[in-house]
Amino acid sequence: VLSATDLHVTFPSLRGRSEVRAVDGVDLEVRDGEILALVGASGSGKTTLSRALLGLERPTSGEVTALGKRLPTGGAELRRYRRRVQLVMQDPAGALNPKHSVYESVAEGIRLHRLVAEHNARGEDVTEVDLVARALSNAGLRPPEQFFLSYPHELSGGQRQRVLIAGALAVEPETIIADEPVASLDASLRGEILGLFLRLREQMRLSVMVVTHDLGLAWNIADRVAVMQSGRLVEVGTTEEVLLNPQHPYTRELLAALP
Ligand code: ATP
Repeated sequence: VLSATDLHVTFPSLRGRSEVRAVDGVDLEVRDGEILALVGASGSGKTTLSRALLGLERPTSGEVTALGKRLPTGGAELRRYRRRVQLVMQDPAGALNPKHSVYESVAEGIRLHRLVAEHNARGEDVTEVDLVARALSNAGLRPPEQFFLSYPHELSGGQRQRVLIAGALAVEPETIIADEPVASLDASLRGEILGLFLRLREQMRLSVMVVTHDLGLAWNIADRVAVMQSGRLVEVGTTEEVLLNPQHPYTRELLAALP
């Protein structure tokens, strides 16, 4: 479980502008094996909250914990924490290095977190190549070897998104935070990638927080939905509760704006 307790992230005032309470007292839990959709308009604080949960943004106050352990402030502990909570961005945000082959992209995290040594210490006879292949295969890129030497520009949008997911899976996280993971894809590819998240949840009990402004996406894959407005969570509940019987006027507004 990943959780935030009374979390605040405030950015200082700049050039006469008042300070920005990007995250303003949020309590949220991403439970084991669930898919939680974090929805809200642009500027509502979704990215800042995600970055705080990832250990990339220091909270002004409040607490972030993963599996009961408080977010460390630095060093090897923080690196270990960041391994357990992985970010998957959308590919057009420049998430994949165009100069790195698929193999290099996926191997990066495996090397950073010394996973081969970890597996070997557990008596598993695996190599880096095995781990890269396993991650690609779990992300639906099969046969994995066929993708090792490909570069991002040689892949389709859906394949590139799968490489990003493979990079996250490679370090064997407990939770993935996916920021608009399908926003740039066409309808059939969106379905495929969302199906992949559902499978990963089933097969690996992976917890996923999907950050999106797309309520349709939330409806399709989320177990629960959290609605964010101006740095606060205004409504959290099961997908049916929140989308079929919204309690907060802002949620109703978001629903009314659906095409
Ligand atoms: P989007 O969907 O457009 O990414 P969001 O819901 O993710 O929006 P955030 O990016 O978290 O929203 O931004 C929340 C607020 O915090 C905004 O008012 C934004 O301008 C402000 N903000 C975000 N990052 C910083 C920063 N590094 N310094 C100052 N203000 C920031």
